[in-house]
Amino acid sequence: MSSNPRYANYQARVNVRRWLKAQGRPCWICRAFGRTGTIDYSLPAGHPYSFEVDELVPVSLGGSPTSRSNVDATHRCCNQWRGNKTVEQVLRMAGGTRSESTPPPTESVSGVTSGLLG
Ligand SMILES: [Zn+2]
Repeated sequence: MSSNPRYANYQARVNVRRWLKAQGRPCWICRAFGRTGTIDYSLPAGHPYSFEVDELVPVSLGGSPTSRSNVDATHRCCNQWRGNKTVEQVLRMAGGTRSESTPPPTESVSGVTSGLLG
């Protein structure tokens, strides 16, 4: 039996999951690639587009699986695609940024007057 900090912190993990879900956080990886990243939180676990908690700094590298500053929401498939890439590597590939609860950059809207927040 190996001790897994994810299970040791089960309740904290549930809380952080609930916290992300309550915000309806989009997938940060999709957002980095300029997609909307909307997650359907009603999809069952295991579905390719279901919600997963992603550790920005992997637990294996000393990141906390329960710290709100070290987690964000991803699609399951995006999380699997990321594998053990660092956030920096993902952002470099995407040419984007990981935004904290902020709307996507306006440059993605071409030729359309943005009046979303009007
Ligand atoms: Zn995604």
